[in-house]
Amino acid sequence: MSATTPGLVCAHHHLYSSLARGMPAPPQNPNNFLSILQQVWWRLDAALDLEMLKWSAMLGAVEALQSGTTAIIDHHEGPNAIEGSLQVIADACTQVGVRVVCAYGVTDRWQDNGALWDSALPPSEMTSAAARGLAECERFIRGGGRGMVGIHAAFTCSDETLQAAADLADALDVGVHVHVGEGEIDSSAAARLDHLTASNWLLVHGVHLNQYLSGALAHNPRSNMNNAVGYAFPAQRPNMVVLGTDGIGADMLEEFRLAYVAHRADDVTASPETAWQWLANGWQLVPEALSDEVTWNYDHVDSPWHVAFTPGIRALDVRNGDGELLLDNGVCTRVDIAEVRAKAAEQAVRLFSRL
Ligand SMILES: [Zn+2]
Repeated sequence: MSATTPGLVCAHHHLYSSLARGMPAPPQNPNNFLSILQQVWWRLDAALDLEMLKWSAMLGAVEALQSGTTAIIDHHEGPNAIEGSLQVIADACTQVGVRVVCAYGVTDRWQDNGALWDSALPPSEMTSAAARGLAECERFIRGGGRGMVGIHAAFTCSDETLQAAADLADALDVGVHVHVGEGEIDSSAAARLDHLTASNWLLVHGVHLNQYLSGALAHNPRSNMNNAVGYAFPAQRPNMVVLGTDGIGADMLEEFRLAYVAHRADDVTASPETAWQWLANGWQLVPEALSDEVTWNYDHVDSPWHVAFTPGIRALDVRNGDGELLLDNGVCTRVDIAEVRAKAAEQAVRLFSRL
């Protein structure tokens, strides 16, 4: 029985999406996964500038810390504010005291003529936006940042871009962070990535992944349900499975509960030990989080059978590996939460006015 754990790891997040809650309804009501991307996320990410990104990341980092999550593996996109974006996210997280692994997710969906790619076939060649995204990853990582090379998803990238991203990751000795088979539209991902993947890749979703690819697999149960893309059957995959939120906060005990109950919905003999292991596997990707310590308002927080059936467990205190108190009875020590929320609200107004 213990009321403390190491800092939790969110293995797939989009800190740019913290301002999205409450955004104006899209012009048309999305009726499938691709139209959700087109109507919601691709309009939102195109409207972001670096000031909005800063406060979005700061809010996301504060909410992570308040959830006992001290490490985030982030996947960023913002085609009209690429240069410097990863440093903005890293600086925001550092200011709050949360560890972050940054990636810019490259894509060829914005053609060089400014039009949004709109075809059943993947783009045929690398766009300048993708080249700039790769350059952003390279600049950030060579400058000492903790990062990965990001790819949005195979279905919005040319083969040339996929190859260039894999080559850059090799040269930088990091993995690639990529959405794979999230929706049916990306079901050719495995065939196109098969010769590129490696054990240090982070494959996200894998709902429609129809063959084995090398790398860790990030399972995002809440997001998958929210987008109606289907169940990923993570327990049946040979990959190491980790848990992510796909941008819907960073409450990893909540994501664990959803992972457990989604597993259980498929298999009534499932034990919460399985989803607990997926949560714990995050420490393989960001081992530094093991040196952080979270004190919770619940004595059995180390027991999956207790946590699975106890919603609302809260982080009280968080200390980093140096013993510095980052969260004191639910209050961030390095930043003023009220100020972060107020600035984020201001930036959300700017963002929504652009949509
Ligand atoms: Zn995602």
